[in-house]
Order: sequence, then C-alpha cells, then structure tokens
Amino acid sequence: MLPSVPLAIPASDTGRARNALTLSRPHLGSGGGGGGGVAGPLTPETSRPGSPYAPPVNYDGLSWPSVGAKERLEATPEQAAERQEKLSGAIRTILECIGEDPTREGLLDTPARYAKAMLYFTHGYEQNLRSIVNNAVFREDHDEMVIVKDIEVFSMCEHHLVPFTGRIHIGYIPKGHVLGLSKFARIAEMFARRLQLQERLTRQVAMAVEAILKPLGVAVVMESSHLCMVMRGVEKTTATTITSSMLGAFRNSTRTREEFMHLVR
Ligand SMILES: [Zn+2]
Repeated sequence: MLPSVPLAIPASDTGRARNALTLSRPHLGSGGGGGGGVAGPLTPETSRPGSPYAPPVNYDGLSWPSVGAKERLEATPEQAAERQEKLSGAIRTILECIGEDPTREGLLDTPARYAKAMLYFTHGYEQNLRSIVNNAVFREDHDEMVIVKDIEVFSMCEHHLVPFTGRIHIGYIPKGHVLGLSKFARIAEMFARRLQLQERLTRQVAMAVEAILKPLGVAVVMESSHLCMVMRGVEKTTATTITSSMLGAFRNSTRTREEFMHLVR
C-alpha cells in the first residue's frame, strides 16, 4: 500500500517560488512505498492536494497527482496488464448494459481496444513537468511577447467521460529565461491528457509556464467544442467554449492583454 501522505510543502517551497528544474525532493527516500525503486526523476507525490492550483508544480512536477496516478506511473508490466484487463472487464459490462452481446464477433476485442484507447486518452497522468521541460529553459534577454498559438488539444470531460477538443494559445513575456517552443505543446498535452475541465486545463497550463519561467506574465486562451454538449444534453453543435487565464502583466495591463488577444485571433 502507498502511504497517504498529504501534500505539505511550505509556501516558500512551492513551484511558484522556485524553478521546476531546480526543485529538490525533501521527502526522497522517506516514502518507502512501491517496492523501493524510487531513484531517478520520476517520483511523484503520493496524494492529491486539495486544489489543482496549489501548488501548480509540486517538487516532483506531476502537478495535482493522486494516489492512482502514482500507482499507474510506477506500475510493473504485470500490474499494467492487470489494470488493462480490469478496465476491459468494465467495458464488457457497459456493452451488456446497453443491450449488446459482447461475445459477438464484431465486439469480441472491443473491450481490450477501448481499454487501451482510454489509457492513451489519459496518458498525461504518467507525465510530469520535470521531464517535459528537461534542459529546455534558456537564459535569454528577449523581453517581448512570445506566443505559441493553435496548439491542438484533445481532452476528456471529467463529468461525462467524453472528449472535448479545440485549440490552445499560450503567450508569455520572458524575464531572463525562455522555454523551447515545442515544450509549450507538450505542457498542454500533459494536462489535456487527463480527465479535465476546460477551465482547469487553461489555468494549469498558465500556472505551469509561470512556475517554470517566472516570466513577466503568462496568457493562455483555449477554445473548444465539448461532445457532452454537442451529442447529448442541449445538443448545440456550433457552441464554442472559450476560457482564459491571465497572469502578471497580462492581468495587470489591458494593452498587453489586448495585444495578445489580437495576435491569437
Ligand atoms: Zn461534460
């Protein structure tokens, strides 16, 4: 069993205050769970803090991890196979419950296929910011707005377990450090490939960039279409949901925010 140690990092120890790359792991070696092999960079926290935003980046970089996420991340191949079999069984139950015959030819392998797909849709639980950002923060005096726009995002609504898809735009104003451009897409991908709310996804991406770079400001805007709205419920096929998270200069200065919004349009 995993020790259920609540996340208790002093305020000065949070990712907000320190660069994700240089975060130390004060609890390393004291956890003891998971059969020992905890050396190396991938040792996420064992329990989920109360809020997905505090701290935005914990010292292991997993960001709002749960006990299950840690178990999944550290699973042996046998445990992973067992997990997939258990998940397949649940899909078989779903097939029965909707009035299908899981033993007919067309559906025989569907539970296993869907189990694999579901694990792929949520592979962000196995990723952490520390390894994503790895060696891609560069010292640079550039202090003008940098924008990476139209990053495609595929995520899963945590209320209905159906997809929402769209695009995310990330902007920031550096203060001494820049991040390799491809990393923004990878950060968005990490948070998107978990069960999400669009609001939380947007804010988590913004807070991660802030924690990693300590820039003058961060802006994240996401526009997406939710299948739970399109295929069920109100069945509004053209509705787009737009969320934004503005930090630092983007929150304080209307002009900066407007420049960003103009450039991502
Ligand atoms: Zn939904």
